[in-house]
Amino acid sequence: MDIERLMDWVIAKNPGEKEYHQAVKEVVESVQPVLKKHPEYERFKILERMVEPERQIMFRVPWMDDSGDIQVNRGFRIEFNSAIGPYKGGLRFHPSVYIGIIKFLGFEQIFKNSLTGLPIGGGKGGSDFDPKGKSDMEVMRFCQSFMSELFRHIGPLTDVPAGDIGVGGREIGYLYGQYKKLVNRFESVLTGKGINWGGSLARTEATGYGATYFTEEMLKTRKDSFKGKTVTISGSGNVAQYAAQKVYQLGGKVVTLSDSSGYIYDPDGIAGDKWKFVLELKNMRRGRISEYADKFGVEYVAGKRPWGTPCDVALPCATQNEINLDEAKTLVNNGCIAVSEGANMPTLPEAVDHFIENGVLFGPAKAANAGGVATSGLEMAQNHVGIAWTFEKVDQELHQIMVNIHKNSWDAAEKYGHKGNLVIGANIAGFLKVADSMIDHGIV
Ligand code: NDP
Repeated sequence: MDIERLMDWVIAKNPGEKEYHQAVKEVVESVQPVLKKHPEYERFKILERMVEPERQIMFRVPWMDDSGDIQVNRGFRIEFNSAIGPYKGGLRFHPSVYIGIIKFLGFEQIFKNSLTGLPIGGGKGGSDFDPKGKSDMEVMRFCQSFMSELFRHIGPLTDVPAGDIGVGGREIGYLYGQYKKLVNRFESVLTGKGINWGGSLARTEATGYGATYFTEEMLKTRKDSFKGKTVTISGSGNVAQYAAQKVYQLGGKVVTLSDSSGYIYDPDGIAGDKWKFVLELKNMRRGRISEYADKFGVEYVAGKRPWGTPCDVALPCATQNEINLDEAKTLVNNGCIAVSEGANMPTLPEAVDHFIENGVLFGPAKAANAGGVATSGLEMAQNHVGIAWTFEKVDQELHQIMVNIHKNSWDAAEKYGHKGNLVIGANIAGFLKVADSMIDHGIV
């Protein structure tokens, strides 16, 4: 099936799911050089099978708020592809969540997980529940209700969820507590767990650190590094926080962070006690990033994203579709030399093209932010053998995985005639392993 017919088919079967269409289109276009060389993928209908999830679960999540009113949310888990391992991918709790968002994330996850080199398949889940402004007890009751349905679909060798937007250590704790109560087993069914109960050291840091290691590899291809670079970051959640810390450790200066209300600009750099303030603000008090500006007397720009701020490197770490073409043009005009996606699909396709056409190093999400799920894979491995590695050991493994992902993506791009294009390289490298495994397993 050619690209156009395949996309028409995907759109007809998944109407209105625009984020999913966007994610599929990028992969389908990227793997064309492979399909031309390997007609067996067409014969075995690999793409047609890949774009259809193995299983989609949608369920009611009723819970009681602090005033005694009953609330009803919708829960999702999409078990997309298990060709190379148990389904693996995070849970997102955000009011924007609907099936199209979960499907785009689950589809991306297939190739990202393949790139890590670990035996993990692709899945994703979540709910339109908004943890913002809810009390801990409300979040707990919601998580318990969510898991009361999800538990029957997941398992250490079947499907292993983790966190994503709106699902951090607190939520994973409540979800795990309910799972354990229901199945009466202490097992590795979630990752991002607390260190006292099976979590891995460095999992919290992994996505942000990994994205930064990946960007460092990109810079190395131009004999460059983070030293002395000015870096803009969007978001101020888990990924943004640890990307900021690692950039600082590698010699760069992070000048922006944001949330869905606006961004702060600190020309002196967000590090040390200022960085600790962000962690306390976002992870404990769950406040707004504008409080940083109040506290340290720096600029706060309400309702805007940080991409107008001059920088050498930009790391979008908030959410999907947060860099459009105009913003890409501004970044290029301001001299930005590298953009690497800590978030999933933060750059619109036309903005990606603009970066690549203008020689900006571009790190696509499924490669750049794979450090989170890779370390989740390491958490599963530690759980399976019942040991706990040191922080240094996990960090070293993570670093090596990111170096490998960069090399494999670079090599695949070169081999298929697109030297330096990591979007195409990552898609191809991720695709091949899954496609070959699907052929090995027959028509299932
Ligand atoms: P968090 O919930 O910890 O933080 C999300 C951040 O993004 C917050 O600052 C939030 O602001 C902001 N944000 C969320 N939605 C929007 C929006 N619509 N517009 C503007 N800002 C928004 O999530 P994570 O840091 O875990 O995730 C960030 C991104 O990284 C996501 O794309 C996620 O899929 C991706 N990712 C995460 C991994 C992980 O291990 N956590 C692994 C791989 C990818 P506010 O508080 O105002 O909502």
